[in-house]
Amino acid sequence: MDATTHCPRCDAPRASLVRDGFYHRADDSKSIQRIRCKECGKKFSNATLTPTYRQKRRRINETVRFCLASNMCPRDIAELVGVNIKTVAARLIWLAERAREKNQRKLQAYIDAHGPIKTVQFDDLLTFEHTNCKPLTVPFAVIDEVRIPLGFRVASIPAFGRLAAISRKRYGKRTDDSIMARNKLFQELQAILPPNVHFKIDGHKHYPRLIKQFFPDATNSVHISDRGCIVGQGELKKTRFDPLFSVNHSFANIRAKVNRLNRRTWCTTKRPERLADHIDIYIDVLCDRLETDRKKRRPRTSHA
Ligand SMILES: [Zn+2]
Repeated sequence: MDATTHCPRCDAPRASLVRDGFYHRADDSKSIQRIRCKECGKKFSNATLTPTYRQKRRRINETVRFCLASNMCPRDIAELVGVNIKTVAARLIWLAERAREKNQRKLQAYIDAHGPIKTVQFDDLLTFEHTNCKPLTVPFAVIDEVRIPLGFRVASIPAFGRLAAISRKRYGKRTDDSIMARNKLFQELQAILPPNVHFKIDGHKHYPRLIKQFFPDATNSVHISDRGCIVGQGELKKTRFDPLFSVNHSFANIRAKVNRLNRRTWCTTKRPERLADHIDIYIDVLCDRLETDRKKRRPRTSHA
């Protein structure tokens, strides 16, 4: 009865709960304790109040989480773990909810261990839903040098350039939610960052106004970016030293690891909410990977 502290129906305390046998859970071959409430007579089990309650395929969760952050598409993951593609789609949403909580906890743990964050790199990642006539922008903030993501939003923007007219003709006027999304992200950042933080940004005209509004005491430096160096990786620059390396590297990495953000892919985002879910899972796995790297690195030795 370890995990259960109260009755899920009448909220009776643990003292009113009695053990009531076991059942065998076929899905992961575990023996699950049944519990009965003496107050209301309701029977339930140790599994009732767990996050995996009512899942039929618990064993796949960790693999699906890893694969979603390792550039696999839902169809391939479904084939690998032997489930229907709809199960993978459902797990994406479930894993994302848990990832969001974990990411907040990990970020707080990092701040507790290393002190307030001094420098942040901020930029927008461009992608699209369904067709590149319907672009999306992902405002994204990372800690300078350590590349730990601080937060992001997904917002629709109107098509630009040569696609603007085609997009309007085919899909009508598309709203621009980017300013609202950046405002929401910065509201969130206010709770995490100290007022005197430093922002490294590119030449986007909205950014200085945004910083002034939400961080009046913050400083910022603008770095106009060069052209990308590798075909299909606009974010990795040719220059010897890129001041926005952390955020650009994060974008290149996320494009390589989140299947629907690959350039020249036929896996596309159908719903912006699912893209946000997918990025949350990616950040969860990325933080684990960065943590493993940090532990492997021995202190005070060079990599020569
Ligand atoms: Zn009860």
